[in-house]
Amino acid sequence: MGTPLESRQEQAEAVVDRLHEEYPDSTISLNYSNRLELLVAVVLSAQCTDERVNEVTADLFESYRTPQDYAEASEEQLAEDIYGITFHNNKGGYLKGIGERIVDEHDGEVPDTMSALTDLPGVGRKTANVVLQHGHDIVEGIVVDTHVQRLSRRLGLTENERPEAIEQDLLEIVPESEWQQFTHLLIDHGRAVCGARSAACVGCVLADICPSEQGDSEIDLASGEAW
Ligand code: SF4
Repeated sequence: MGTPLESRQEQAEAVVDRLHEEYPDSTISLNYSNRLELLVAVVLSAQCTDERVNEVTADLFESYRTPQDYAEASEEQLAEDIYGITFHNNKGGYLKGIGERIVDEHDGEVPDTMSALTDLPGVGRKTANVVLQHGHDIVEGIVVDTHVQRLSRRLGLTENERPEAIEQDLLEIVPESEWQQFTHLLIDHGRAVCGARSAACVGCVLADICPSEQGDSEIDLASGEAW
């Protein structure tokens, strides 16, 4: 078990500094070339891997170029065109609804506020935060996906379980200038080293400050159970 720094703020800053060193090019891994494509890709990525989303959107974005294209397609056609994505039937409906709302209520533009974005079908706070950050350069929150959720708990940055509550804890302790990058750094570390089923603590750059480190710790703080 590593020894966390005295305050959660210091712990968060140390985590950010070390992971910046480890992953200097950390960024979003979804492919897109405009705000609409970003929004669609993020909606599709819920409970699906970014790799799979990128495979499917490579063709999808050739056929669907405007909000009207989504609005005018049938849900069945959209579901077929995103086949291979988790919950493709539901998400086909979301994409049609998003196209309709953007055409009818936002003059064909992807909205730039949290409330307008979360009013769109299939768009929660996490998706809205990604679109605001990467589509509009507006950073007003921290994206908490499954990696951020797990690592924040393992590293002792929060004891909460729900993403919304974890985000509020993180907003208190992560420097505002790092709100966007914090997510990408934790995702990279979660994928490379600190996985859901196994954590490679030996050699991890956070081992000495991580209270879940397996050296002599028997508890994975993400689950609260023994490793
Ligand atoms: S790999 Fe181990 S030491 Fe590193 S952050 Fe994950 S649980 Fe902590």
